[in-house]
Amino acid sequence: MAMARDSVGVAARSTMSAEARLALLEELLRCAAPAEAAQSVADWLLAHSGADRTLFAAPDPVRGALTGIAGAGIPARQLKKFALPLDDSGHPLIRALTNGSAISFHSSRETRLGVFGDTPFTSIKVGGGGDEPAYGLLLVSPATEMPEPGVRWVAEALGRCLQNVGGVAVGFGEEDPRVRREHALLFSIINAATDPILFTNMEGQLIIANSRAEMLFTAPDDVSEGRRRAVQLNNMFFSAALSRTALGEGEAGRRELLLVDPTEGSDLLFELLSTVVSDPREGTGVVSILRNITDLRLATRQIDENYVKLRAAEAEVRAERDRLNLLIDSVADPIIVTDQEGEISLMNNPAERLFTVVVGSGEDAQRIVRANDAHFTSFVSGLLSTGWETTRRGEIALVDPNTGRLVPVEALAAKMLSDIGELTAIVTILHDRTEAIERNQLYEQLKLASEELEGKVREATGELANQNELLRRQALELEQASAAKSQFLANVSHELRTPLNAILGYAAMTLQGVSGELSAPQRRNLSRIDANARHLLTLINEILDITRIEAGRMPIQIVAFNLPELVHEVTTELEPIIAKSGLQVISKLSSDVPTLKTDRQKVKQILVNLLSNALKFTPNGSITIKAHAPAKLSVAISVIDTGIGIPKGDQVKIFEDFRQVDQTPRRAYGGTGLGLSICRRLTTMLRGTLKVESKLGHGSVFTLTLPANLRK
Ligand code: ADP
Repeated sequence: MAMARDSVGVAARSTMSAEARLALLEELLRCAAPAEAAQSVADWLLAHSGADRTLFAAPDPVRGALTGIAGAGIPARQLKKFALPLDDSGHPLIRALTNGSAISFHSSRETRLGVFGDTPFTSIKVGGGGDEPAYGLLLVSPATEMPEPGVRWVAEALGRCLQNVGGVAVGFGEEDPRVRREHALLFSIINAATDPILFTNMEGQLIIANSRAEMLFTAPDDVSEGRRRAVQLNNMFFSAALSRTALGEGEAGRRELLLVDPTEGSDLLFELLSTVVSDPREGTGVVSILRNITDLRLATRQIDENYVKLRAAEAEVRAERDRLNLLIDSVADPIIVTDQEGEISLMNNPAERLFTVVVGSGEDAQRIVRANDAHFTSFVSGLLSTGWETTRRGEIALVDPNTGRLVPVEALAAKMLSDIGELTAIVTILHDRTEAIERNQLYEQLKLASEELEGKVREATGELANQNELLRRQALELEQASAAKSQFLANVSHELRTPLNAILGYAAMTLQGVSGELSAPQRRNLSRIDANARHLLTLINEILDITRIEAGRMPIQIVAFNLPELVHEVTTELEPIIAKSGLQVISKLSSDVPTLKTDRQKVKQILVNLLSNALKFTPNGSITIKAHAPAKLSVAISVIDTGIGIPKGDQVKIFEDFRQVDQTPRRAYGGTGLGLSICRRLTTMLRGTLKVESKLGHGSVFTLTLPANLRK
C-alpha cells in the first residue's frame, strides 16, 4: 500500500457510513482475541477513516514496554519494532496512556516520537475512562487537529470490545488468567519436550524457543567466548537450514542439521522438522522441532559395523565349514555327523559309499544300505539315550553295498556340545578293521612259524652242544697226545744228549792230543766231528727248550736286576764271537730304565739269541744295544745291526719253528731256525712283545718290550 504523505484531514476523506460502522461492530463481536480486534480496527480505519497508517500499541507488563499490537499501512517489522519503555514517564506517548484522550503530534520533534516517521499523527486513548488504566493507544496518521468523532467512536468501540473479549484488567498484554494459565501450561509443555522447539518469523528471527533450544541458540551476556561462538555458529547453521527448507530443497520440512553443543563443544546431529504456521497475532512463522539423532546415528553406524562383522563372521563360518568338509573328505575313514535326533546331516565320501545307494543300483545294494543304516542308527541312539556318556566305542558289522564284502568296523562316536552344554551334533568315525583282522591272522601264523623255528633252533643248539662236547674231548685227547709227544721229545733229547756229550768229550780229548799227536787231515776231520756234534747239541738243547715250554715245565723265576749289568754279562759271554766278527758292539742304555723285576734268565736267553743273530748276519758295520722306558712300567730293548736285513715277506715267518730266510742246503749261515721261535715263546711267558723292523741290505732292528714289573 502506498504511503500517503499529504496532510489532508482525516475527516475530509471519511467514509464512515452507518453500514461500515455496523460492519465493524459485527466484526468486533466475532473477534475472540484482543489483538484480532485491534487488527480489525486498524484495518477498518484505513479503509473507512481516510487514514494512511494506523497502529495500535498496548502496554506489555512482561516486556515493560508500550508495544505495537496491530497496525495497517505500516510494515510488520516496524510494528514489531515499536516499543516504548513504560517507565519512560517523560515520553509524551507514555504520558498519553494516562492523560487526556486524544493528542495530536505535529511538530517535527513530536512526530519523531512515533512510528510514522515525521508524519504528524494523532494518538487516541483506548479504554481507561476514569480510574481505569487504558488498554492502549490508537495512533492514526495523518493527524487531525481534533480526532474526528468517527475515530473517537472507533476507539470507544474497540475499548468495549477489549473489555468484553479479553476482560483485560490493565494494559493490552495482560491476558486473562485462563489464557495465562494455558499460556504457561503450553510453555511448560514445550519446555518439557526434550527436543529443542523454536518458532521463528519469516525473517528468521527467533520468536519463541523452549529451554532446550535456548541452550543451543541463545547466549546470555556473561557466557564464555567459546560458547558465544558456538551459539553464533548454531544460529548460522539453523538459519541456513531454514532458508533451504524455505527454498524447498531436499525432503519437505525434514533435514539433518549438525550443531555444536555450546557447553561441551561436541557435535550434535539433529533432524530438523519445520512447519510453516500462521498466527493472527504473531503473523506467519516457522515452527521447528529438532530431534537429536546423534545417538541414533551412532547406533546406525554401530548396526552397520555389526552387520559388516556379522557378514565377515558368516563368511568365516562358511570357510570353516568348507575346510571341515575338505578335511572330512580327505580322511580315508568314513565320518558321519548326525543331529540331535540322530538324523545324518553330513558325511564324507567313504561314508557315502556305505550309507547311500548309487542311482540305478540293484535291490540288493538298497537292502544292504538300509541294513547298514539300521546298524549305525542303533549304535548312535545308544549314545543319545544316555545323558552322561559323551563318547561311545563299539563294533558294527557293515557290508559294502558295491561289493557285498563284509566290513567289520570299529565305531567311535562323540557328542559335540555347545558352550552351554547343549547337544549340537554327534560325530562318528568308522574305522575299517579288515586289515587289522588280517594283520592279526598273519601275526598268529607268524607266531606259529616262529615257535616252530624256535624248536628247530633248540634242536640244532642241542646238537651243537653235543658236537662241542665231542670237540672238547678231542681237544683234550689232542692235548694229551701233544703232551705225550713233548714228553717223548724231551726223553729222546735227553737220551741223545748223553751220547753226544760223550762224543764231544772224546773229540776234545783227542784233539788235545791225549791219544797221541794227530796228523793235519786227522785234526781237520776231528774238528768237523766236533763242530757238527756241537751243532747237534744246540739243536737238541733248543728242541728240549721248546718241549719244556710247551709242556709247561719251564717255570718263571722273578728276580730284581739292573739291565746294564745284564747287557754287560751278555756281551762278555759273546766276547769271543764279537772279537771274531770284528764288529763294534755299542751299548746305549737310557738312565730312565728302571730296575726290572722279571725272569732274568729268560731275558738273558732272548738277548743272547738276538745278539748272536745280529753278529751272525752282519758282515760289517756295527751293532747297537739300546734300551729305554717307553712307559712308566715297561722297558724296550733293541738290538740294531747294519747287516743283510730280512725281506718284508719273511719278517713274520722267521718266528716260526725251523724257519730261516735262506732254507737252501747250501746256505751261507748256519743255525737251526729255532732261536727266534724260542725267543717268541719266552717273550710271551714274560707278557712282552718281540718285533722286527728290517730293510734288505741295510740292517735289522729286533725290539723286545717287557713289563718292568712282572707278576705271576
Ligand atoms: P738261526 O738259528 O737260523 O739263526 P733263528 O730262529 O735265530 O735261527 O733265525 C731264523 C732266521 O732269521 C735266520 O736263519 C735268518 O735267516 C734270519 N735272521 C735272524 N736274525 C737276523 C738278523 N739279525 N739279520 C738277518 N737275518 C736274521
